[in-house]
Amino acid sequence: MTVMFERRATRLIHVGKVPVGGGTPITVQSMTTTKTADVEGTLQQIYALAAAGCDIVRCTCNEAEVAEGLAQIVPRSPIPVIADIHHQYKMALAAMEAGVHGLRLNPGNIRRPEHIKAVAAEAKARALPIRIGVNGGSLDPALYEKYGGIAPEAMVESALQEIAFFEEVDFHDYKISVKASNVPLMVEAYRQLSEVTDAPLHLGVTEAGPPPAGLVKATAGIATLLLEGIGDTIRYSLTADPVEEARAGRQLLESLGLRERKNVDLIACPSCGRAEVDVIDVATRAMKAFGDREIPLQVAVMGCVVNGPGEAREADLGIAAGNKRGHLFVKGRNVAVVREEDMVDALVEWAEFIHEHGVDAAIARADTTLAEREAAKDRSALLAEKGADANHATERIVEIRRTVGE
Ligand code: SF4
Repeated sequence: MTVMFERRATRLIHVGKVPVGGGTPITVQSMTTTKTADVEGTLQQIYALAAAGCDIVRCTCNEAEVAEGLAQIVPRSPIPVIADIHHQYKMALAAMEAGVHGLRLNPGNIRRPEHIKAVAAEAKARALPIRIGVNGGSLDPALYEKYGGIAPEAMVESALQEIAFFEEVDFHDYKISVKASNVPLMVEAYRQLSEVTDAPLHLGVTEAGPPPAGLVKATAGIATLLLEGIGDTIRYSLTADPVEEARAGRQLLESLGLRERKNVDLIACPSCGRAEVDVIDVATRAMKAFGDREIPLQVAVMGCVVNGPGEAREADLGIAAGNKRGHLFVKGRNVAVVREEDMVDALVEWAEFIHEHGVDAAIARADTTLAEREAAKDRSALLAEKGADANHATERIVEIRRTVGE
């Protein structure tokens, strides 16, 4: 059964050819970490980001040399490029001259109304979108003082002030972010913002830090809002290779059913006393072998043939260990038995076959009778060896009762 989340209605804008808002698929963004003036290095990173699932990339634009670099990067980039502007409004004008597909302005850093309006007017003339990127850490000091610190209300007010300047020059192609590193604060700021605007929203937990803690923090904030129907485009801000950000963003959207699956969804059992193989090792090797390959299947790695095929019967393809062998199954049906050391190679080969020819063809090419017979043999051997209580829970319970009874 597919569960769908109702999304809040927002206006549609376009960043280059990529639509944002208006019910279009939620997009993944990331930011390059190279010096933007290093054209080849930046393009290399942009290509890696695009391959990992990034839809829109942002590059910093903080000096004239960088804007010149952007003029060479934009025409060669496989995805739309946004220029990130902080203190100098002239850099926004230069970036537009360089041909970028959009801008990000930080209202806390560019505060003179005439500068903001000059940028918005130029963006309007060029039909380019702007993100109003409010950041808790660089909030306008006047708002910081008014609210006694970084408050959701202060961040929303900062965005509304910027919108008012944009509206004065009749500019409406904007999206908004109100990021903070504190997850509950960021969630509340977006909730409040979504009540007062129909502009598309760009979600993110800023300065989330290195993985895995950064991944958890960013996911907590972004997923909470997405499940409430808030958010049109997302960015993970990790202290890591930006490819990790793009991959995480993509995986989050896929796991919530908000984007079509692009890569393998690898599931694996947590392992237990029944495991016949080092599940962590096999799953890690399988994950590496599939990498970013575009095989949109769910693939399972299970520790034993006793329960594995049943527990992962919904997976397109899976492998379960037993008696030093790997039992491959497709949609819960045993299709082949391979040597334990060949488990990962076999998974990849079968995944490629299914991707190309489909599940039915994969089952048709297998000797399912033989595979089922072998699987049944290994299952009963393991049951005979380990019994029905492989984790020794019954023995433990007896021991607990004895201890408590004493
Ligand atoms: S019973 Fe088998 S499949 Fe389930 S967790 Fe244990 S080893 Fe994995």
